[in-house]
Amino acid sequence: MSEGIMIILSSPSGAGKTTLVKLLSERKNLVTSISHTTRTPRSNEVNGEDYHFVNNQKFNKMISNNEFLEYAKVFNHLYGTTKLNVLKELGKGRNVIFDIDWQGTNQIISQKLKNKLVTFFILPPSREELFKRLSNRDMKDKLIAEERMKQFDKDVLRWKDYDYVIINNNLEICYNQISKYIDCEINGKETSYNKILIENHLKKLTS
Ligand code: 5GP
Repeated sequence: MSEGIMIILSSPSGAGKTTLVKLLSERKNLVTSISHTTRTPRSNEVNGEDYHFVNNQKFNKMISNNEFLEYAKVFNHLYGTTKLNVLKELGKGRNVIFDIDWQGTNQIISQKLKNKLVTFFILPPSREELFKRLSNRDMKDKLIAEERMKQFDKDVLRWKDYDYVIINNNLEICYNQISKYIDCEINGKETSYNKILIENHLKKLTS
């Protein structure tokens, strides 16, 4: 039996990536990697399903025990992917999907694991929509929406590190596009995305 492939979805915060990862994980040939984080849970989040929520002490212990495949500091909190589960699932031939940032993606790329790696970068449809999404999460997050908009201008530049860049204008269309690319990659078919369209969209997002 052949090993599974690794699929990473990254985006500036608020581009709708977490919803996409949830939808993709419902496909029968994909499992989600559940990260550890030191941030506090949002009102709708469940420990062990959305994240494993741990304190700084526990996270730092896991770092010294070399338990992480990758980890990074994002918005002042630590986030990381543990090796054990991911390698077990890949070994069983399951494809694993990761919702991680560009720092973690670069760490995984540079490890050059034997498993095929496919990376997606998701863009919001506009700055206005992004701000709306960031403000809508819950009251506490409204206070940091502006800070995250500033971060957006930096994070969006990372699109260049990824295999595919997709605009999340409409959830269903975006999901179908990603799904199609994943199928092609699993089946070893050549594929590509429209770079000119993306570059024009990026100009609008950053001007
Ligand atoms: P949030 O706090 O909004 O759930 O996530 C903030 C950011 O952390 C998102 O960009 C998300 O992709 C990223 N993130 C979540 N889990 C991990 C992880 O395990 N490793 C890394 N490097 N980033 C993560």
